[in-house]
Amino acid sequence: MKKFSLTTTSIDTQRLREELRDDSCGAYASFEGWVRNHHQDRSVEYLEYEALEELCVSEAETIFNEAREQFDITNVRCVHRIGKLNISDMAVWVGVTASHRDAAFKACRYIIDEIKSRLPIWKKEFYREGDSIWVNCAQNTEQTTAHSKEDEFYSRQTILTDIGLSGQKKLKDARVLVVGAGGLGSSALMALAGAGVGHIGICEYDKLDISNLHRQHLYTVSDVGKPKIDLAASRLQALNPYIKIIKHPERLDAGNVENLINDYEIICDCTDNFVTKFLLNDSCVLNQKPLVQASIYQHEGQIRTFLPEASGCLRCLWPEIPKPGCVGTCTEAGVIGTLPGTFGYLQAHEIIKLILNKKSALTQHTLLMNLDTFETQKLQQTRETRCPLCSDHPKITKIIPDHYHRLSNISINIESIAKTELDTFTFIDLRESFERTFAPVNQLTHVHWPFSKRKNQSFSFEPDKKYLLFCAKGIRSLAATEELHQEGITNTYSLENGVDAIQQYFKS
Ligand SMILES: [Zn+2]
Repeated sequence: MKKFSLTTTSIDTQRLREELRDDSCGAYASFEGWVRNHHQDRSVEYLEYEALEELCVSEAETIFNEAREQFDITNVRCVHRIGKLNISDMAVWVGVTASHRDAAFKACRYIIDEIKSRLPIWKKEFYREGDSIWVNCAQNTEQTTAHSKEDEFYSRQTILTDIGLSGQKKLKDARVLVVGAGGLGSSALMALAGAGVGHIGICEYDKLDISNLHRQHLYTVSDVGKPKIDLAASRLQALNPYIKIIKHPERLDAGNVENLINDYEIICDCTDNFVTKFLLNDSCVLNQKPLVQASIYQHEGQIRTFLPEASGCLRCLWPEIPKPGCVGTCTEAGVIGTLPGTFGYLQAHEIIKLILNKKSALTQHTLLMNLDTFETQKLQQTRETRCPLCSDHPKITKIIPDHYHRLSNISINIESIAKTELDTFTFIDLRESFERTFAPVNQLTHVHWPFSKRKNQSFSFEPDKKYLLFCAKGIRSLAATEELHQEGITNTYSLENGVDAIQQYFKS
């Protein structure tokens, strides 16, 4: 069955509706476009439609796919009539089925708006006075309505004198890459999409966990277990259909970072680990891209904007990548849900200022704010003459992958261990007791040695054994393993990706 077709006879809506019927669908929405007896104050007698069929079919297919990506729909059908049509005849019909009414309504609306503006269909209007005019459907009044809807969407910010229509156009033309769609990313993305940033790239590889939801407000409980990138893209597209969302479902690393950032004008760092922050910092300096970066810890956060040539960089503050574990992650240190939300919005605000070329962007300072006390500090941020990256005589002149996972020789990927070999290791769970309650590891015999108590409760490592340390994500285990190696206990290893990797391993 063709999803889109042209017909020279009247449209049989009864039959089309039956064709769409599906027991799994709870909703059906349709739209009918009729020939009316006037157009812009002129009396219309009848119409003639002409179309380029092949192009219509392929463009309609594209539109249906776009609708499927944005809305959770099951099926779609559209018929457009061509040839001679009389007043009150049906010119176009769209039908959509979905599990729920909201998706059916929205998709139906989206499809008819796009069909009207994008398909190569022309109509000749025959007026009562005897003359006639060819009209491209894209120029008719419905298209004007679609356009003015977009203007209306932004109307509360375009009345600001420092934005206006020209500022809105700059936002629409802008290309921003958001790395990480977690706590910071959720709110940064929502704000950028709402503001009308026209091309938003999202780089994210993680799946949604229920413990993410208190701070990642882009998602809902029914999304748990699904890839965040798909969820984020469809939510944002539903929030603002006038922008383009580009998905990069991958983990950012030294191999792909330059390719990823190259397509964008501004980079928004919403990640939560040092190695990625330094990798983004280094690539942005080397490729002359502005970078807006935020970090959060328990109740306080900081934000800074690095402009090429003007603001210094992260290595002006810390020349070397700090060791993993020297600052806790959200998993172990905890975080109040409003903190990443606030700083994500601040990042989006900074990006909007950069796009609008506002002098007030935070390019010379780091802003620190504690949400508990509302104490804020603005620290001067200058280019350090001895910076290994952005000074006049840099030591770092290109991205060398080895510099961004320098500890990999003490990490072990569980997939590389055969099941029969597992008992050659003594497994040590470094997680805190509360984490063990939420995600118990029953598949493996292991001992508990909490990360927070490791300095006070020493562990007796036996020299002829091999120890594999694990935590939730592999960050604390790496830090602890590195410490042990420095103390000369070299028969210890860190398990990559922590408990997630263990669960996955025993599932497969
Ligand atoms: Zn620097």
